[in-house]
Amino acid sequence: MKLTEVIKNAKKPLFSFEILPPLKGENIDHLFEAIEPLIEFNPAFIDVTYHREEYIYKNHPNGLLQRYNTRKRPGTVGICAAIMNKYKIEAVPHLICGGFSKEETEDALIDLDYLGVENVLVLRGDAIKSEGSFVPEPNGHNYAIDLLHHVVNLNQGHYWGQEKSDNTGTNFCIGVAGYPEKHFEAPNFKKDIQYLKQKVDAGADYIVTQMFFDNQKYFDFVKTCRAEGINVPIIPGLKPLTTKKQLSILPSIFHIDLPNDLVDAVESCKNNQEVAQIGAEWAIQQSKELLSFGVPCLHYYSMSKSAGVKKIAQGVF
Ligand code: FAD
Repeated sequence: MKLTEVIKNAKKPLFSFEILPPLKGENIDHLFEAIEPLIEFNPAFIDVTYHREEYIYKNHPNGLLQRYNTRKRPGTVGICAAIMNKYKIEAVPHLICGGFSKEETEDALIDLDYLGVENVLVLRGDAIKSEGSFVPEPNGHNYAIDLLHHVVNLNQGHYWGQEKSDNTGTNFCIGVAGYPEKHFEAPNFKKDIQYLKQKVDAGADYIVTQMFFDNQKYFDFVKTCRAEGINVPIIPGLKPLTTKKQLSILPSIFHIDLPNDLVDAVESCKNNQEVAQIGAEWAIQQSKELLSFGVPCLHYYSMSKSAGVKKIAQGVF
């Protein structure tokens, strides 16, 4: 079922979470072991991230370094099918522009359609780690909105490079990303919201936010979106802190601010077990406040580890 329908039919706020495909060569059962402890909270959907290729270098006996291009976490499409088959829960694959030609993207969408997947989250993706800025594939999409247009066209039966007009269209409900603390490349917040509005006007059905730790950022974001005429559901994304290291890692990767009180509390922890407890308590407080604000769903970045999210779900749902 489309997420917009799921949200519309829901009698109470929904619970959902995001997982990562396992590293290539890891057993899929580990992923299922991370999903299963959360099933009792009736997740409305499970997002599955997509990971672009990375360069790896191998030393040759002759002293030369050879560069390989490899996808370390393949399997998004297959995992979505497995989740829907095994748990009868909606799976939402993330689709990214980076590393894909339009043809490859379309083939993935056709596979998803045949598998009965009705929801996709369309994203641009980030630059390859060794490259300074995002470079689209030759014949790939530049921005999330270009990929979004592609999905909207497919929904209308217009396939890439085809003149035929009697095609069967796909039927995807389309989500996009939103940034309560601004996307780091946007020149300013206003411009970022304008680009987000363009995505919604082009057919995005809902928004999922980047993680944030200060609810006021989300409240202000929603207020600005509504004032700009963005009226689709805005699902807040939350992440439980679990390690001290995340105090520096999360701001550098996700370009977000951590509130002082949270930083102080984490710094005073003796070990990561204590950090995980503080992280869960913070996320529970955030979740409860968001629920009283009237959010349609609480979405958690689990990183395929269930313990933190389970603790939160026990305190909230
Ligand atoms: P876009 O909407 O294309 O925006 C990218 C930047 O360009 C922004 O600064 C925006 O302001 C600007 N912009 C947008 N449109 C235009 C335009 N027409 N002209 C000029 N500038 C424009 N990454 C992954 O690789 N895999 C994942 O699975 C994944 N999942 C994610 C899930 C969520 C909920 C979120 C919030 C992010 C996720 N990301 C993922 C990260 C995401 O790919 C990056 O944040 C990426 O840098 C931006 O993606 P986007 O879809 O927001 O891009």
